[in-house]
Amino acid sequence: MNISCPSCLALHWRDEKHTNSTTANPTFGNCCNSGNLSIPLLPNPPAALQRLYDGNDTQSREFRQNLWKYNRAFAFTSLGVAEDHSVNLGRRGPPVFRIQGELFHRSGSLLPDPGRSPTYSQLYIYEPRNALEYRIRNNSDLRPDTLNVLQSIMNTDNPYAQLYASASQILSSIRNAPDAEMRLRPAPGVHRRSGSLPTADEVAVILPGNGSEGDFRDIILRTRPGPLHRISEMHPAYAPLQYPLLFPLGTSGWHPDIPYVRPGKRSVTATLSRYTQFRIHERLGEYSTILRGGRLFQRYLVDMWAATDQQRLSFLRKNQGVLRAALYSGLEDAVEADDTADLNEIGQRVVLPSSYVGGPRHMQQQFQDSMAVARFFRKVDLFITITANPDWREIQEALLPGQTSYDRPDLISRVFHMKIHSIIKEISETGIFGKAVAHVYTIEFQKRGLPHMHLLIFLTGPDKLLTPDDIDSAIRARWPDPVSEPLLFETVKRCMVHGPCGIANPSAPCMENGKCTKNYPKPFTAFTSLDEHGYPKYIRPNDGRSYDVGGIPVDNRWIVPHNPYLSAK
Ligand SMILES: [Zn+2]
Ligand SMILES: [Zn+2]
Repeated sequence: MNISCPSCLALHWRDEKHTNSTTANPTFGNCCNSGNLSIPLLPNPPAALQRLYDGNDTQSREFRQNLWKYNRAFAFTSLGVAEDHSVNLGRRGPPVFRIQGELFHRSGSLLPDPGRSPTYSQLYIYEPRNALEYRIRNNSDLRPDTLNVLQSIMNTDNPYAQLYASASQILSSIRNAPDAEMRLRPAPGVHRRSGSLPTADEVAVILPGNGSEGDFRDIILRTRPGPLHRISEMHPAYAPLQYPLLFPLGTSGWHPDIPYVRPGKRSVTATLSRYTQFRIHERLGEYSTILRGGRLFQRYLVDMWAATDQQRLSFLRKNQGVLRAALYSGLEDAVEADDTADLNEIGQRVVLPSSYVGGPRHMQQQFQDSMAVARFFRKVDLFITITANPDWREIQEALLPGQTSYDRPDLISRVFHMKIHSIIKEISETGIFGKAVAHVYTIEFQKRGLPHMHLLIFLTGPDKLLTPDDIDSAIRARWPDPVSEPLLFETVKRCMVHGPCGIANPSAPCMENGKCTKNYPKPFTAFTSLDEHGYPKYIRPNDGRSYDVGGIPVDNRWIVPHNPYLSAK
């Protein structure tokens, strides 16, 4: 990652450049799309906070470990979401934040219900000494001295802390109107401005409430107890109120009026996903608290993605009339009409067009396209799985000091994307397996959050893998020689050994009813053969070779079939 975008200074790998730009003058799409999106960079965080983000002392390390909890202790809004904890059960490796259904941010009354201890924004209206006491009591697993440092940073530098405190003062001074409320609303004209960051006073002007429903985008502040109120993701304070440690100065987030230039065409506004893409790039001259967030960064990404998806869905729900005409003509609907027991159709029917990625029509269309390719080219020749490897050099070198690859799902995805495209290019253009005429692939994310790709390759007549010799030339299912192929040997040892499962590990994910569903260990075989369905049985010689993998001796029966050339890459 050593080339910077000429427009926004985001750091890139060479392979990320636009394919039509030159190596001497590269341009990039994912950061700012050649300068079409211009957003002020993040301001430097307060020095005391930056010390916690960068420091190597025990206090800083503990802070980074529990950053998401510290953030929760200072968030103004609470997160409403059903978290799926099952993904973290009985599993090694770092925790994953997975959600189900809708995600939203909520704010409640500025005063706690009688008898309850204050939380979230309520803590900002107390005297610092009392607020700290509550925070320490609510977060007994966090360090009091760190809570103290963070609280004084918030009170000094975070504009919303001051805004909430003064709103509460104003509200409580209105003695005989317990129903009084105030609204945080972006000041008119702020949105269109670019070049500098709007301040909190501009994105959140306090207006007296008038009892009406008001603009749905307002954030409502009141002191009387009542239900939690949902905050619109279109409010520029949506992200800074939920992630005060990522945006300590209250830097405003996405709103619907950020201009997005399209050269030669009418300008539009930037979508939330475009905006977030811009934000999650490392840049020369920008200190990104976001990329240093670790598990909090993961939450921020899930949050922004959920908001993006909710926006898309609500657009589709509101535009059903326009969409329908175009919808009911396609092949995917003819196929789908057979499926009479679709649970999605109970209740009000909302049709997701095939352009909605991940929806049933999209899946159906992709599936039908793939089947058409398979019908035309007859037989699939190669079925290749490519798994993201968090130890890839590109990822390791791009990590910020002290980070592990799991702190940076952004880097894993970007490097994976680059790798699979270079592999597809090599297969289809260089022809490492012979002349490839077509390929079809799907990308899935495993439980640990790592992506992998299943790729089907179709070769032309003379290059089709028909005989056992053809197959042996492309695929191997045995240990490489550690002396003549050291790199490949290490890769196979690390990534191409199945299990451990069976007696050694009865709770392995592949185990069902006491048996390995992938049929490992495979029997030893002296030569490659094809069964009556044309499936190969790879040669797995019983040559006495066995190597220690994680304390267990592993022989050729456990090696996952692989292509030596691609595996060594
Ligand atoms: Zn850029
Ligand atoms: Zn198994």
